[in-house]
Amino acid sequence: MRVIVLLGAPGAGKGTQAPILAERLGLAHVATGDLFRAAVREGTALGIEAKGYMERGSLVPDELTVRMLLERLDQSDAARGVILDGFPRTATQALALDAALAGRGTGVERAPYIEVPREDLVARLGGRWICRAAGHPFHATLSPPQVAGRCDIDGSELYQRPDDRPEVVNARLGSQLAPLTEVVDHYRRVGTLTRVDGRQPVERVTEALLEVLEAPAAPELA
Ligand code: AMP
Repeated sequence: MRVIVLLGAPGAGKGTQAPILAERLGLAHVATGDLFRAAVREGTALGIEAKGYMERGSLVPDELTVRMLLERLDQSDAARGVILDGFPRTATQALALDAALAGRGTGVERAPYIEVPREDLVARLGGRWICRAAGHPFHATLSPPQVAGRCDIDGSELYQRPDDRPEVVNARLGSQLAPLTEVVDHYRRVGTLTRVDGRQPVERVTEALLEVLEAPAAPELA
């Protein structure tokens, strides 16, 4: 099973790039944010527990998140491999993933990190619109849809995520950037991290990511 971890802050472009990479590489796209939003929509026990954290822009507790992710990895469409989008987000999650994968005789193959400065993240999240069907992201000015209010990919309605409101955006970045640094450090230490400049146009970022994922491992040295 190939496991690729796509790292980046909220708004860095993971949700744009992960489905493209998954399609190109024949892997399943697994986004923990999408799994949580589906659980909230369906009103499951997991959704009820996760909802408050998400509304405040906080991280959902590790134990709950890890359990959900590992169950998702057991589904048949993940057998060939996955692009993880939004997981791991803490060092504890990264270690739990390593342990679970080691138990399955595999490990994280590559961890490309889409880097975007904090100022840009605020602007990107503020203008973001997401499609109801699959969470495909658009931006009011940076990447508007061809038809206003409709997803270019599947035609479903676009909506603004409640946690993309300015007051929650700051809380999300405030609580999520520090643990992300620890996760980045983890993959740098084990030699699977590669940084990609996320300020480039979408297509250039895709090319850079594919280059990383198709090239033999060249670890960034400490
Ligand atoms: P996202 O769509 O990736 O921005 O995730 C939306 C929200 O879901 C986050 O702000 C968190 O509240 C929660 N979430 C998603 N992934 C994780 C994770 N790996 N660990 C903890 N919370 C998460």
